[in-house]
Amino acid sequence: MSDVVFLGPPASGKGTQAASLAQANGWIHLSTGALFRDHLKRKTTLGELARTYIDRGELVPDSVTVDMVRERLRDVPTSTRVVFDGFPRTVPQATALDDLLAELGRTLSRVVELEVPRDEIVRRIAGRVTCASCQAVYNLETSPPHRPGFCDRCGGPVATRSDETPEVVANRLDVYERQTAPLVAFYRGRGLLERVDARGSLAEVRRRIGAALP
Ligand code: AMP
Repeated sequence: MSDVVFLGPPASGKGTQAASLAQANGWIHLSTGALFRDHLKRKTTLGELARTYIDRGELVPDSVTVDMVRERLRDVPTSTRVVFDGFPRTVPQATALDDLLAELGRTLSRVVELEVPRDEIVRRIAGRVTCASCQAVYNLETSPPHRPGFCDRCGGPVATRSDETPEVVANRLDVYERQTAPLVAFYRGRGLLERVDARGSLAEVRRRIGAALP
């Protein structure tokens, strides 16, 4: 089954939507941000390297990121769809993904761009907390955990991510505009891009994404 990429600025909902669609359909959700945070938690060498970039809101170098994705993809059967979330984030990563997919006999059939206005992004991140254990995301205003401070899914502690302070978020948004937004033209040129309005309820957005997928 062909693979898909979710593209969008921080807090556009790509992680939440990718996780929910993957779980419902038996697809693999591949989030490079979540993989890096897992390395951080386990204090691996890769995690220690990634930390210096993540804490500043900068991108981890392409070669490191691509090697981590290659490792994760190695054992995924070609019959199982992969939903890439937060990868690729630069044009060199996108061309590396092409090579990687070709190498593994996989194909990319859609890139879904989740669109959210900047003022809404800032508002969403202000209320956002993440589970330190399973990385489920909550919003204290719109979708808080049922038991304050603890994850509904796994019971782990929820807290504000260290890269979600206002200064780091501002930098992440600039980095998105500078380094990731060019991928919109890159994939549009290849006829793969579908834009989806990511405002509204999770269910509404999920329906729009479902309609945009092959
Ligand atoms: P995310 O969870 O997708 O918001 O990612 C959190 C942070 O992890 C980013 O701000 C980057 O520092 C790093 N990161 C995640 N994905 C990538 C990627 N594809 N390339 C480089 N850095 C990444």
